[in-house]
Amino acid sequence: MNYKYSRAAAKRYKTMTALLLGFLLFGQTFAQTAAPAPLSSLSAVEKEIADKITVAIIKEYTTALAAPEMEGRGTMQPGGDRAANWIAARFQKMGLKPLGDKGSYLQKIEFKETVHTAETMFQIGDEKLRHGTDFALLPMNNGNKDVSGEMVFAAYGIVADSIKRNDLKGIDVNGKIVVMLEGPPENISKEIWTKQEASMIFMQGLIRQGAAALVFIGHGREDNSPDEMVSYMSRRQISMPDESGYPAFVPPFVYIGEKAAEKLFAKSGVSLKDALAQAETNEFKPFKLNQKAKFIAKYKSTKGFSSNVAGFIEGSDPKLKEEAVLFSAHYDAYGKEGDKIYHGAADNALGTAEMLAVAEAYSKMKPKRSMIFLAVTGEEYGLYGSKYWAKKPTWDIKKVAANLNLDGVGTEVYAPVKTMVGYGAEHSGLGAMLADVSGAFGIKVVPDPVPDEKVFYRSDHYSFVERGIPALMLKGAPEGDIQVAMKRMKKWQKTDYHQPGDTIKSDWAWEGAKTVAEVMGILGWRISETEKMPEWLPSGRFGKLERGNTKDLPKEQ
Ligand SMILES: [Zn+2]
Repeated sequence: MNYKYSRAAAKRYKTMTALLLGFLLFGQTFAQTAAPAPLSSLSAVEKEIADKITVAIIKEYTTALAAPEMEGRGTMQPGGDRAANWIAARFQKMGLKPLGDKGSYLQKIEFKETVHTAETMFQIGDEKLRHGTDFALLPMNNGNKDVSGEMVFAAYGIVADSIKRNDLKGIDVNGKIVVMLEGPPENISKEIWTKQEASMIFMQGLIRQGAAALVFIGHGREDNSPDEMVSYMSRRQISMPDESGYPAFVPPFVYIGEKAAEKLFAKSGVSLKDALAQAETNEFKPFKLNQKAKFIAKYKSTKGFSSNVAGFIEGSDPKLKEEAVLFSAHYDAYGKEGDKIYHGAADNALGTAEMLAVAEAYSKMKPKRSMIFLAVTGEEYGLYGSKYWAKKPTWDIKKVAANLNLDGVGTEVYAPVKTMVGYGAEHSGLGAMLADVSGAFGIKVVPDPVPDEKVFYRSDHYSFVERGIPALMLKGAPEGDIQVAMKRMKKWQKTDYHQPGDTIKSDWAWEGAKTVAEVMGILGWRISETEKMPEWLPSGRFGKLERGNTKDLPKEQ
């Protein structure tokens, strides 16, 4: 069974959070290792690239993309179209050749948007809760629902002889609305819980036994508060028009905000606080909440379009110009919902601006290979734009030398960049090239700090890896007192990440963004000038992968 939206959306949110945390911690751990090579290892032409990439350009482009009139660059929204046209106009001004549909810069993609109608509701007793603030309901793609039943509290839904725990002891969940917590309980390690896929197993158990709905409340230990989850999960969903949803038998998954959670327990004789305490012991006994609940989920789907934006600089070498270096960054953010605008300044107006600054630097130079610049849409909903290009490439996929991708969370503007992760560096010859280039900037390259989160498999570059193209996603971070950076990142994550608060901040150290763009630009240049296209490391995971691959890769996620 696949819970793509309900589980994967949450997982993705958590992944990025873990990435942020792990990244900063890792920077600290390795702060004292390997002295970088001196700056003088850049060639004259590479220094020229660095000179041409300026803070002023990156700042101007980020500001334009994150501006209120771009309305968060939403997929299938006018703001998204405005941003795409704006990027296309920049490409044209720089003299890039169009690489979209029919001689244009735009590659048009059909999407489907699914939203809740005003009829969606969750009622406890006589009280109606508000969708989007009190609760969120998933998945959106498996048909309208109308469900009602008695509520029971089943803690974590654990049924495990090995720890002598049965959260369902003595109750029949068939037809019931099961109020529960997302595991693990405090006395079970997260690692073991995740490894054994315990959440999935126990939820499947509840569904098999006929639970009418699963209602999740918070226990206070989660990385993202229930209110954050409600805000995140109640947004519109974007998918491919022909993408099938979940099987209709998958019941509603409901996330309840902090305030509303108390209301579920109001008639049970047990306070929320006491219920949460009971849930932490293996002796937990499930109990009725003595209230009926009712859900109505009504969805509306609309088809529409958004575009990738693609342009290229033709290579100067008669032979090598057939081959191209592919630069990518997603320009979409969460767009506009009601009166909220998700500006997505750090994620990923900044990354897009950095890529555009590289394009601008190259535009008056003569690289040997061609240089493709691809700003993709639909990333936030599942890498849709990059997957589309990889499936319907506007350049011979067998002649794409490498992909360099930027997808930011803003760590590069905390302070001057002194640490970098190249996601995917361990898989191809690009790793050594990155170490060399970043060394010239006094930057230490560190491995993926949280390999278990498999970030490498979760951003746009992976769409190209699947087609056999060696790829790197670059992320920069500062050195210095890690506690200061941690505090800043945690605060940002709570208030701004994937929220309307992701705007340009007055204390951004823009030179960090310049450094990331310079490293990307010089790395791309070296790929362009090297006689052979980069190769996968033969002994590695992708060693046998060929450019143009259409076979499924071994399952990793
Ligand atoms: Zn992003």
